[in-house]
Amino acid sequence: MMKILGTYLVALGAAVCLVTPSSHAADDKALRILLVDGQNNHNWKATSPVILSSLAQSGRFVVEVSTAPPKGAPKEAWAEWNPKFSEYAAVVSNYNGELWPEPVQRSFEKYVSEGGGFVCLHAANNSFPEWLEYNRMIGIGGWGGRNEKNGPLLYRKEGQVVRDTVKGSGGGHGPQHEFVVEVLEKEHPITKGFPLKWKHAADELYHALRGPAENLVLLGVAYSPVTQREEPMLLTLSYGKGRVFHTPMGHADVSMRCAGFQSVLERGTEWAASGSVTLPVPADFPGLEAVSARP
Ligand code: ZN
Repeated sequence: MMKILGTYLVALGAAVCLVTPSSHAADDKALRILLVDGQNNHNWKATSPVILSSLAQSGRFVVEVSTAPPKGAPKEAWAEWNPKFSEYAAVVSNYNGELWPEPVQRSFEKYVSEGGGFVCLHAANNSFPEWLEYNRMIGIGGWGGRNEKNGPLLYRKEGQVVRDTVKGSGGGHGPQHEFVVEVLEKEHPITKGFPLKWKHAADELYHALRGPAENLVLLGVAYSPVTQREEPMLLTLSYGKGRVFHTPMGHADVSMRCAGFQSVLERGTEWAASGSVTLPVPADFPGLEAVSARP
């Protein structure tokens, strides 16, 4: 199940050039990252390579992939899937699918609570509505039958962060579109140096996410024309000693080719893995007027 990054990049052909070492050349100090995929209602086979190439070109990480068994796989296949989370500085999830086996759930809880890093991307926050500890890690999620019993809606309105206990389902989005992300916490290591407002590539703008919504900092939001509220786009959370970075952005490969998204991914992963950020804000980071897309 485990594929090293090189395997992916060879398969990608043209993307191999992206591993050219930068000022943060991958060396002994590189952070070991595990990307988990294998099931998703999204095209994870298209988005995982974008995640990998983004993390690789930063030069800050060595990334391995653990692909979970496909939907409907027999118990024997799941019994063999038990990633050694503790060997990594952070785990990045591009997974939305069947509930992980109990031993993997307990292992992941132990890993994060003891200080591991976790990065939750887009539909990874649709995962596991029935797994309370996972929902405490991500703070808010959508779909899967989530409702007021899972916790309040989290959004920002009139300058205030609101936890709204209104009844109703969790999770929604309008048509994909380009939208502006507004940074609320400009001194946080992940967002420090970002333009305070920047144009994100076409993406689903999730709204009505709900969950425990505890131990979190809302770093950035985007205005939803559907809810007429500012919806969470960049969040950090603590879970025990662990650090979690969560972005509901990243619906498709085109969304992930946004230079802003990739900087968010790289800096969020570095922060989750190490507690600090050394990666610079890239020169092609978008401003307010125009999207900045990478090849
Ligand atoms: Zn989506």
